[in-house]
Amino acid sequence: MAQRLIVIGGDAAGMSAASQARRRRGRDDLEIVVFERGHFTSYSACGIPYWISGLVPGPEHLIARTPEVFRTKFDIDVRMRHEVTAIDLERREVTARDLDNGDEVSERFDELMYATGATPTKPPWAQTDIAGVFGMQTLDDGAALRDWLDAEPQPRRAVVVGGGYIGVEMAEAMIQRGLSVTLVEQAAQPMSTVDEDMAELVAEAMRGLGITIRSGLPVTGLDQRDGRVSAVVTAEGPIPTDVVVLGLGVRPNVGLAEAAGLPLGPTGAIRVDRRMRVPGFPGVWAAGDCVETLHRVSGMPVYIPLGTHANKQGRVAGVNIGGGYATFTGVIGTAVTKVCELEVGRTGLRERDASAAGFDFVSVIAESTNRAGYYPGARPMTVKLIAERPSGRLLGAQIVGWSEAAKRIDTLAVALWNGMTVDDMTALDLGYAPPYAPVWDPVLIAARKAVDALAALDR
Ligand SMILES: Cc1cc2nc3c(=O)[nH]c(=O)nc-3n(C[C@H](O)[C@H](O)[C@H](O)COP(=O)(O)OP(=O)(O)OC[C@H]3O[C@@H](n4cnc5c(N)ncnc54)[C@H](O)[C@@H]3O)c2cc1C
Repeated sequence: MAQRLIVIGGDAAGMSAASQARRRRGRDDLEIVVFERGHFTSYSACGIPYWISGLVPGPEHLIARTPEVFRTKFDIDVRMRHEVTAIDLERREVTARDLDNGDEVSERFDELMYATGATPTKPPWAQTDIAGVFGMQTLDDGAALRDWLDAEPQPRRAVVVGGGYIGVEMAEAMIQRGLSVTLVEQAAQPMSTVDEDMAELVAEAMRGLGITIRSGLPVTGLDQRDGRVSAVVTAEGPIPTDVVVLGLGVRPNVGLAEAAGLPLGPTGAIRVDRRMRVPGFPGVWAAGDCVETLHRVSGMPVYIPLGTHANKQGRVAGVNIGGGYATFTGVIGTAVTKVCELEVGRTGLRERDASAAGFDFVSVIAESTNRAGYYPGARPMTVKLIAERPSGRLLGAQIVGWSEAAKRIDTLAVALWNGMTVDDMTALDLGYAPPYAPVWDPVLIAARKAVDALAALDR
């Protein structure tokens, strides 16, 4: 009899695992059943801001593979609008509810892939029926916001609450749609994924685009008129608005796992080993936004919910379920985003992470340009490096600048992944031609500056 794999969650991690397992094991050997409570499989949540702004014409462009493709081409039994409500690890069975007709089904499994993603953070004031308030996690959320923005009376003012990368991308989307936008952030600055000095450059650019930033300001409530949101309430008074977008971060969606007795780590996400197995539970796998992973620089478990990790981890689980061998060996915190034309990249530890992890370090900031200064379109680029003292090992890097800034972080991510010192980096053979870089690439200038800073301290 064929074994059976049950997958909970039909997006990045779940469907990567299912399709990898199918590539290695045919239907006679492994039945695969996927339960997905939403309306879509394998979609790019990452593309939602660009659909909201109008850059991407429709949600269909964000869907990599439909349920029908999985059914017909991969022989995977995809059950849409089915929410798994319980896992019985002893009986090796899951229970799921059909959200359209309320029916319940139970299915046995030999292998279980847990890929339920994350849940958006919603403080009590945001748990409301007031119309015009949107979380931004799924394509359904994106569709609801698009409908609101397109309907009459058309919103003219938007408030984005939360200045993480999703909040910043949504603020950009709203500005591009012609709304007047205020971003409210409880912390001292938006974009706390980079150090404050670098975040200030982002804030400055956002203000330059016409986005009003209200930082250090917690939101305490919402006002409404006739059931529609009319203002965001803060300690400094109400901020009138016609639409509110929440970007307050996410936490791992682990309710079912916890109830079934699966182990959570210190971050509150599911613990897994390098092969994406849940330790102590043979045949149980987990991946994506519901798991924690190892930070390769600090050596600590971290929760960094990103699509790039979800896809890789899902693939690793699927290869292993399929009888192959693959590992996911941790992350270094590389991430990129943009706000209109300003690009932001980061990798490794910020100053506060390096301090928390007990490193002695120096940090330097190098100002340069993305192209040769005389070449048309040359614009500023700021590179920050954090290097261990006295070894000079790179611990972290951040870049803020105009075109060609964000993906330069990949050079630094590779250096960091391979344990390079800033001294080694000064000799890197990076490409140079005036349209792409100054003769000394901004990365090399920053590395030289870090070497000088280390030398000055050790003199
Ligand atoms: C607006 C936005 C922009 C983003 N931009 C980027 C980016 O630029 N780069 C990047 O790397 N990442 C980005 N991300 C993050 C990325 O989308 C996620 O990390 C990725 O989708 C995680 O994949 P996942 O499969 O673990 O979880 P999800 O994509 O959340 O999928 C989990 C699935 O499980 C389903 N599910 C949950 N519980 C159940 C249940 N009990 N029964 C059945 N089904 C269930 C859900 O409906 C969902 O479809 C962005 C996210 C958002 C929201």
